[in-house]
Amino acid sequence: MVQRIIERGEIESLDHTALPRLLLPETAEATFTARTKRLADLAAGKVAGIAFNPALSGYLNLMREVTAAQAEIAAELSATDLDMPDQKSLDLALEHMMPPLAAQLKRPAIWHAILNKLIDKLAHSNNGERIELNAVLTSLRALNEEELDEQADAVLAQRHEDVNPAQAPFIAAALQILWTARAAKLKQQQVPMLETFTLCPVCGSHPVASVIRIGGQSQGYRYLTCGMCASQWHMVRIKCASCEQNGKISYQGLDPIDAPEPAAAPDNKANDPRKYVRAETCGDCHCYTKIFNQEHDYNAEPFVDDLASLTLDILVSEAGYTRGNTNPLLWFGENA
Ligand SMILES: [Zn+2]
Ligand SMILES: [Zn+2]
Repeated sequence: MVQRIIERGEIESLDHTALPRLLLPETAEATFTARTKRLADLAAGKVAGIAFNPALSGYLNLMREVTAAQAEIAAELSATDLDMPDQKSLDLALEHMMPPLAAQLKRPAIWHAILNKLIDKLAHSNNGERIELNAVLTSLRALNEEELDEQADAVLAQRHEDVNPAQAPFIAAALQILWTARAAKLKQQQVPMLETFTLCPVCGSHPVASVIRIGGQSQGYRYLTCGMCASQWHMVRIKCASCEQNGKISYQGLDPIDAPEPAAAPDNKANDPRKYVRAETCGDCHCYTKIFNQEHDYNAEPFVDDLASLTLDILVSEAGYTRGNTNPLLWFGENA
């Protein structure tokens, strides 16, 4: 058999550079609106690929209120509010392979006002009814700017011992509004490749989960989703998103059918909800990251799907693995 000679153009299209290494959010408003819609489905148990847990409905509905408020606030932000870096700072970030919108380094002070807007909107829709929510919102209002920035630092660095688990989701939500809106203003060529794949190249924050995408040039590739700015960056499959080792990776799903497939799996159908979410576990660092496969649910929204698939977290933690990264809208109070 004659081996087919690959034309030069084809080689270029196989080249790694043809693959979009970074997918920036289109707009913050669209990001949070999509999350709001998805959360409504998740809270109602309408997502076949995610085992419905009625105990989570109240929490998911509250988060839906949060994302709806995020969308509204994002729509009101002006160009001045976004305080984008100037050309010189952008060039410097590129040159030094640093995230251009590093959330740990420089935060526009407007984020405090954004948090206040978020608190006002949630307090308004709550109307004093949910006592716990009321108490958290009141405690947030009592923080001064310095305390708010200390909490923001702890949330961004995922320093659980310094995080107030009840306040953290709202602090994170306020930061997300600003950072997603800012990320949407960047162009891919303004964002360097970092030396590590375990942090967001746009804002330096941790990923929450990953998604195998379908469509266009991203078909079949895995992307990590930033927990702060909603950017997605490419990371090869079968590689730990916490320690970047690839020697002891395995997969766990909720359904027994979801056990690692034999190499020659005859059944490779799309739209199989049982295959929608898996945990990628790493035997080197004993961490895991979830992978949502868009082939099995076109409407995949890794950030909120991560919140709703808590049953998988419980299963995997019982097997001795810990989450590689925290979802900034869900903190457990082990140190509170
Ligand atoms: Zn980011
Ligand atoms: Zn690892």
